[in-house]
Amino acid sequence: MATRKIVTIGDEKLRKHCKSVDQFNLRLKILLKDMAETMYENNGAGLAAPQVGILKRVCVVDAGDHLYELVNPEIITREGEQLGPEGCLSVPGRVGAVKRPMKVVVKAYSAKGEPIEVTGESFLARALCHEIDHLDGVLYVDVMEHEIFQDEDEDDDGAQPAHPADESTKPDQEETRL
Ligand code: ZN
Repeated sequence: MATRKIVTIGDEKLRKHCKSVDQFNLRLKILLKDMAETMYENNGAGLAAPQVGILKRVCVVDAGDHLYELVNPEIITREGEQLGPEGCLSVPGRVGAVKRPMKVVVKAYSAKGEPIEVTGESFLARALCHEIDHLDGVLYVDVMEHEIFQDEDEDDDGAQPAHPADESTKPDQEETRL
């Protein structure tokens, strides 16, 4: 396994429509393993093949408890709505507020070519939508409601969070890159 270089906004590879995979070979398995390693190395929760310069319909997602390796993923059901912070490993240093479905069902294939279905809610739904957008050349900055500007001195002034026990604020997720 090896980590791969992440391409960033401005690279035309991020704007291409990726091709469906039709050969479930060793090369595909290596790509998926490398992508997972690259995602973990960069503290990401998801990574799509075009982010490492490969124009194939392949992505990996780990929203905290399971690694999903998805080949030719397609959203077949969307339900509800959520508006929340979203970042991208290919758009370093920025976060935006993006509206996504609260729940999605995704149909895909495993690395071995077996059909799989993933139901994602909340942050997993957001991550799945973000990665599948990448396969069509769409970045979150194209669909965000607005940019979120973070005060970089926030952590240095010793101030306590206003609502430390408020479970609806999830600072970890604000750091999450997809
Ligand atoms: Zn991304």
